[in-house]
Amino acid sequence: MLFPTACPHCTRDFQAEFADSHVHDLTCPHCGGKSCVFVRKQKFEMLFDLGTRALMDGYAREAVASFSAALERFFEFYVKAAALERAAERGGDFAEAQAALEATWKHVASQSERQLGMLALSYLLRQGQAPDFMDARSLGTDFRNRVIHRGYLPTQTEVEAYAARVFALIDRLLTELGAAAAHAELLQELTFAAHLEQLGDDVIAVFEEHPGMFRARRFGGQAQAAPKVSLPGIPANVTDPQKLKRLTTLNDAQKFQQALRERGELLRVFKGARPALGEPEKGR
Ligand SMILES: [Zn+2]
Repeated sequence: MLFPTACPHCTRDFQAEFADSHVHDLTCPHCGGKSCVFVRKQKFEMLFDLGTRALMDGYAREAVASFSAALERFFEFYVKAAALERAAERGGDFAEAQAALEATWKHVASQSERQLGMLALSYLLRQGQAPDFMDARSLGTDFRNRVIHRGYLPTQTEVEAYAARVFALIDRLLTELGAAAAHAELLQELTFAAHLEQLGDDVIAVFEEHPGMFRARRFGGQAQAAPKVSLPGIPANVTDPQKLKRLTTLNDAQKFQQALRERGELLRVFKGARPALGEPEKGR
């Protein structure tokens, strides 16, 4: 996927391709100037945004794979944030905690079932209660498997409902993580710092924070205070479980639609316009 970037030497725009590492060593096609663009965004955000883009472009089936991958990568983010938070509370050294975490993650990295196990325990230890979102129904597992493994062609509406569910779950767990999310974000910052360290003197470093579905609301460097999560669609006197479930689903959809509206900027980025960023922060 391409994104527009401005050359810090001659200020002209050109297209760069998103790298898995979020680090982009670029040479301007206009003036030949070298730059390195660091995109502050988590993998789960990138995947969720890709899913949103596919959905809006009418590729409903393809969107499911991205939303599902976004959820898995968010679970990894949660586990890492929780583990590093614990290490920080114990007053441990961050580098040591990071090394221990990486060595542990290696055992589960290639099997998503093992990762779900890590998540369940992390949630229990952190929140002091059982994760109430891990049954197949809450995770949308059956729908996902039907689409991805059995070639089912979902309707736009079905995928929107799936996206809304994934969105609401990530949104809720991010809210519960609160400031702890910064521990996992620090991992990305350290990778950036290591790369920045070995850049040549002729390279200008640029840090960009791209808009995303979760970012403007409560997450990322520019996050505002987390708004209280309320369920505006649910009147206090509704106790019938069936009715409550229906209203909760409706609420997920509303939250997703609301986020879509708030992220008008995101859509501009998808269409290839430059995001309205502040002055690029120039390192070195
Ligand atoms: Zn240039």
